[in-house]
Amino acid sequence: MKKHILGFPRIGPDRELKWALESYWRGTCNQAELVDSCRQLRFNNWETQRKAGLSYVTTGDFSLYDHVLDITAMIGAVPERFEYSKGIVDETLYFSMARGEKGRDVLPMEMTKWFNTNYHFIVPEISSQTNPRLSCSKILEETGEAVQAGYSAKPVIVGPITYLSLCKGVNGFDCWEKLDSILDVYEEVISRLGKDCEWIQIDEPILCTDMAETARNYFPATYQRLNKVSGRARILLATYFDTLDDNLDLALDSGCPGLHLDLVRGRYLIEDLLDRIPKGMVLSAGLVEGRNIWKTDLSRSLVVLEKMNRHLGDGNVMVSSSCSLLHCPVDLERETEIDAEIKNWMAFAVQKCEEISILGDSMGGRDCSEIIEASHMALESRRSSGLVNDPKVQIRSGRVEEDMLHRNSRYPVRRKEQARLNLPELPTTTIGSFPQTPEIRRERSRYRKGEISEAEYNIFLKKIILQNIEKQLEIGLDVLVHGEPERNDMVEYFGQQLRGFSFTKNGWVQSYGSRCVKPPVIHGDVSRPVEMTTEWIIYAQFLTRKPLKGMLTGPVTMMCWSFVRDDIEPREICRQLALAIRDEVLDLEKKGIRIIQIDEAALSEGRPVKKRDRGEYLRWAVEAFRLVTSGVEDSTQIHTHMCYSEFNDMIEAIADMDADVISIESSRSKMELLDAFRDFEYPNEIGPGVYDIHSPRVPSREELVGLLAKAAEYIPKDRLWVNPDCGLKTRDWKEVIPALENMVAAARSLRTREKGLD
Ligand code: GLN
Ligand code: ZN
Repeated sequence: MKKHILGFPRIGPDRELKWALESYWRGTCNQAELVDSCRQLRFNNWETQRKAGLSYVTTGDFSLYDHVLDITAMIGAVPERFEYSKGIVDETLYFSMARGEKGRDVLPMEMTKWFNTNYHFIVPEISSQTNPRLSCSKILEETGEAVQAGYSAKPVIVGPITYLSLCKGVNGFDCWEKLDSILDVYEEVISRLGKDCEWIQIDEPILCTDMAETARNYFPATYQRLNKVSGRARILLATYFDTLDDNLDLALDSGCPGLHLDLVRGRYLIEDLLDRIPKGMVLSAGLVEGRNIWKTDLSRSLVVLEKMNRHLGDGNVMVSSSCSLLHCPVDLERETEIDAEIKNWMAFAVQKCEEISILGDSMGGRDCSEIIEASHMALESRRSSGLVNDPKVQIRSGRVEEDMLHRNSRYPVRRKEQARLNLPELPTTTIGSFPQTPEIRRERSRYRKGEISEAEYNIFLKKIILQNIEKQLEIGLDVLVHGEPERNDMVEYFGQQLRGFSFTKNGWVQSYGSRCVKPPVIHGDVSRPVEMTTEWIIYAQFLTRKPLKGMLTGPVTMMCWSFVRDDIEPREICRQLALAIRDEVLDLEKKGIRIIQIDEAALSEGRPVKKRDRGEYLRWAVEAFRLVTSGVEDSTQIHTHMCYSEFNDMIEAIADMDADVISIESSRSKMELLDAFRDFEYPNEIGPGVYDIHSPRVPSREELVGLLAKAAEYIPKDRLWVNPDCGLKTRDWKEVIPALENMVAAARSLRTREKGLD
């Protein structure tokens, strides 16, 4: 049985790509050195796949920045502002598209999340001027490189239907008008690749979404064209991240000789599916999860493979990863410090290649029973481990009652109680974090290295909190925060204090370009053994008579930004997290904090790929939020914050969270998001961010007055808050102070009543 993966992580086991790129951008290494580092990374990846025993090595999965941008380069769809005059897209132009051009003030192309992953791609821009032609032959060169070195290469490219579905038409241009000429380029590439390979993998994850009718309509003819030119190579149509559902027919009738299905996230009824596979079509079974870090249940996978083999015939089944391994860390062997028991349950990209190989070889008759048995034992030990199971947590979670999901009174009643906070009209506040200065970073790193004691570090943090309070009082904000100097990350900080979490040393995954994240791992039942934030927040409140807002991260965000266990449902993980955070909320309240904010930055990105699953998701996500917040008195004000502006289709769910106040991102879209509030009146209070913290620009008072006046057209002034659109931790005080001063001045100038007048 043939064995392959859909793609390997490009960053390298020690994030070599990051270091190479950043040093190239800084000018400390030249182009030749960059090219050389990248070649080494590719060869290492191929060698890893070969050593593991895979039948093919995947080529073209490597990228200097992003695989969607690679297609943009391949077809030469360079936006006009980069002044590209035909020819080739070289590294300089490629990086300009990704990162902008500093000297010339040319904006980079936009970036957005790749389906529901935490990977960001560069959004293509197509206009009437786009003139597709082969402009970068990276995929051909890299494949040639592998073939020359004696590897059996299987190139991968993003398919034209997915590419165009993700494009942005400039000034309303219909991107599909360029399909024909884009296909000319694809044809050229595929026919050239076809000379050296058995399979060409074309990724069309868009098939697993609620695909637009236009895209569906163009699909058959597109693949008719591509299949015609592939020569002796066969096209493997790769789909992942969900089930094909209504688009299964499109895939089966595409004429592609191979089809890859994600059997981890896709919920297929195998028998039904097998009945529908046309004779002779090769099925690539994505059985090894590409987006998580757990070992595969090999015995169960073998049952599926046997079923497939029996039905489709020998040689018509391949075994693979569910999606590209891009979304998981590189090599578990480097984790020398993680608990050995937990490590034994895990597999990173290198280990996943080995799992795939074992599955294929077992099917081919090799005796792998020892390895399969060992893997089975690991899974068994995980199931019964005390590190995973905490009966107290399970019992408590099972006993959540409906009344724990509701505040004592409805918002109008709570509002009267909260008048005790004595806030003016248009209250001003911030989202939580203040600049993480070089000084804060330095002291944190000294503390981690053991150069200063915990007591010394704590004294330092309190000094910063004191400064933060003084600055806010000077600026004149109404609701203060402690500034989060003790956190370098809003998820990791809490994870480190919760039971059920573990942390890797080197478990990096690419977020975008050279940026990587190291998500915490939720390996077991979650509980909160000790108070997590009270020391800092109570201290800050002690320094001022103004109300201080306590800051916590919400359960959905904790979950979305972690690697989560796969042995219980996400909603159960989320509920456990919610109970732990609920305890913290109640402790803060008990100690006198009257305003508490629960950040749910990831609520929208956690949504399933398909609309039909979203209602269910939002139900339990909202329920978790309510579980966190519903234990407090009416007089305690609950805030939440969300980092995005596209929520027309979830505004009701957001209202259902029943926070007293929400703050949302909006300044970049010039309050456009408030359109959502025209048809749906948000019942509680809301702070549409007026100061864009993503840019160093200081907005003027007049500009802020304008934005607030606009917001007041949608939201009654007595329910309107004034705040930036996100936390300020990446900014510099020298911008933050004048910006917040202007914000406070803008709010004051629009007030019709001051504090205590009503
Ligand atoms: N309280 C967090 C902060 O201010 C919120 C950040 C976020 O939601 N991304 O940094
Ligand atoms: Zn935010």
